Amino acid sequence: MLIIKCDIDLTKNKIVAKSNYGDIRYILPNQDIPALKLYDFAMWGFLPIAMRLGLNIHIQGSLSIQSIESAQLVSKVWASWLPNLYQAVQITAESIIHQPQSEQSQQNLTFFSGGIDSTFSSYSHFLKHGKDSDCLTVHGMDYKFDDHAKFEALLDQTAAFRKEVFNTSHIIQTDAYNLYSKYGCNPKGSHVTHIFSLFSCATLFDKYQHYRIAADYRLDQQFFVHPYGSNTATNRLMKNHNADLTTLDDHVTRAQKTAFLNQSQLDLSTLSICVDYSARPKNCGKCSKCMRTKAMFYAIDSKIPEIFVDTQFNQDWFQAIPFHSKLNRAFIFDILATVESASKQDEFPGYSKLKNKVTAASKRAEVNPFYGMKFKDIIRNILKILFSPNRG
Ligand SMILES: [Zn+2]
Repeated sequence: MLIIKCDIDLTKNKIVAKSNYGDIRYILPNQDIPALKLYDFAMWGFLPIAMRLGLNIHIQGSLSIQSIESAQLVSKVWASWLPNLYQAVQITAESIIHQPQSEQSQQNLTFFSGGIDSTFSSYSHFLKHGKDSDCLTVHGMDYKFDDHAKFEALLDQTAAFRKEVFNTSHIIQTDAYNLYSKYGCNPKGSHVTHIFSLFSCATLFDKYQHYRIAADYRLDQQFFVHPYGSNTATNRLMKNHNADLTTLDDHVTRAQKTAFLNQSQLDLSTLSICVDYSARPKNCGKCSKCMRTKAMFYAIDSKIPEIFVDTQFNQDWFQAIPFHSKLNRAFIFDILATVESASKQDEFPGYSKLKNKVTAASKRAEVNPFYGMKFKDIIRNILKILFSPNRG
């Protein structure tokens, strides 16, 4: 049993959700902690650990029935998808609140990271509907929990955009990732826990009825990259006392979003894309994600915007991209489709080589479940197959 209690320090705007398997800290650097009647947020924060370790959760405090039912269902889905990694869990609390969800006027909270997806969804939504949402940026995910300088630089880089598009910007700092990493809560080669960390932080703000998250992939691409934490199927099952989680724009690919932003009036210097930690929040222009994004821009109008430190784009641009990762292959297919629909095959750098390489990698991945795995992981998996109970 994973037993959780919350220590709230109002003078430091800090909550420590303590458990017998470690603690998760939540800090609100710019505002007071909202009045908390429910500890739904802590349950969501610990859920990946409970699923990973196969432990039921007990909260020393109150939970809403909506959160309990939602979290139990979500854990069942993940356990059915990845039974070697996760188990379904049961959740109990000192008291369970059965109030119906409130009927207040609808208020929205949008997750905002500064990347292409969240910038596209919030900007296109703003152009259509005006300012109808606050935003939440979580520190402790893309940026290390104790790295204040880089996170502040991200806030500076995105400040004008957030001011234009959102009413209020919320910031939460959490070290949930430390505990997820300690217990190996993510599958090899993919990431699941980010959606739990985000949902947990958003749940601290219970005045909202809808949390909005930009889809990372179009719906068909979500099947391609499965399992992946933020997906339309489980996102729509995630609820707390007052709010649900809405996935925005799962009908649009990353390349289409890039094209939209490129052709809009937006100052693109707000975008933070890079996976090279030393360069963030600026974009190095060399890492796999910068190269993919450059390719998307180039496929649209044969130009690379000045948001990259290195703006080179030549025949070998995809050398830094690992093709064994299906997350990357999904984006490569997206880039190829963009080039093909614009009939730019002849002028796009490395088009034929890229197409051959990604097709070969996909064929290999289809027949070889160990494709791209490290040798020690292959051995570990073979041993699992040989010694799993009820084999065959
Ligand atoms: Zn980069």
